[in-house]
Amino acid sequence: ARQFTRPLNDLANQFNTLLSAIAGAERVFDILDEEIEKDDQSNGEYFDIQGEVTFENVSFAYEEGEDQQTIHSVSFQALPGEVIALVGPTGAGKTTLINLITRFYDPDEGRILIDGVNIDKIGRSALRKQMAFVLQDTFLFQGTVMDNIRYGRLDATDEEIIEAAKLANADPFIQKLPDGYHTQIKHDGNGISHGQKQLLAIARAMLANPMILLLDEATSSIDTITELRIQEALSRLMKGRTTFVIAHRLNTIQHADQIIVLKDGEIIEKGTHHELLEKQEFYYEMQTQHYAVN
Ligand code: ADP
Repeated sequence: ARQFTRPLNDLANQFNTLLSAIAGAERVFDILDEEIEKDDQSNGEYFDIQGEVTFENVSFAYEEGEDQQTIHSVSFQALPGEVIALVGPTGAGKTTLINLITRFYDPDEGRILIDGVNIDKIGRSALRKQMAFVLQDTFLFQGTVMDNIRYGRLDATDEEIIEAAKLANADPFIQKLPDGYHTQIKHDGNGISHGQKQLLAIARAMLANPMILLLDEATSSIDTITELRIQEALSRLMKGRTTFVIAHRLNTIQHADQIIVLKDGEIIEKGTHHELLEKQEFYYEMQTQHYAVN
């Protein structure tokens, strides 16, 4: 999870710097997109997708000439609307897979396709418009709660934002803030709990309404009531979208359409919870010996 949040945090920092310098969020995003697209020869046109994601023999190393590839010959296909749980020990390559889907990095070998189109033909910003992230660390910028949710889709109306917040189970806590939706969030979102930040991230994702979702389930403790609210909002959000989840909760894993078990950058097992238990191999060992699934 560490590496994944790094590029995003860089964006968040740029964003904060720019926000203080320039008025008008739209302009900020134009500049950010230009930054992102600088090295990107592909066209960034908007396109409608179903959300099928295919990896074909994808290999990748962070450093050139590394002895061992970080991801080695990974192949799988996620059908539109499926939930794909990524599990495996720390350092197995789960976050790196997400980094490749989002084109924070490009594969050294093999291809990644969305609805049959190689993602290297899709501009980074156009690609990411099809995706929403709910990460362990949600970045909030200085501005109102409303602005922070609007980040999901800049042309959203206030009514649409409140609707998204309701769907995300964020409305009750927002209502209790001193100025409700107009409460100013201080730098780095202090005063907002970890769980509440996740609810805001879910609201953003609801508003963005993309076909592909990328989740990194929280490992840190969140109070039970907030946790229940998060789970309920997430299942609402995931409905009808292709979801990749770095899964830590057994419940999520058990209900996934496919579990991809990674070890040392390779897929060592793939299947549903029941299929993998029946095989009595690595996943079974992880479950029965109560290894942490991450
Ligand atoms: P996981 O998410 O399963 O814990 P990661 O995808 O984060 O695993 O990491 C896979 C491997 O790649 C690890 O050995 C990790 O140290 C390495 N790695 C991750 N990010 C970088 C990076 N930016 N540069 C070099 N190596 C990295």
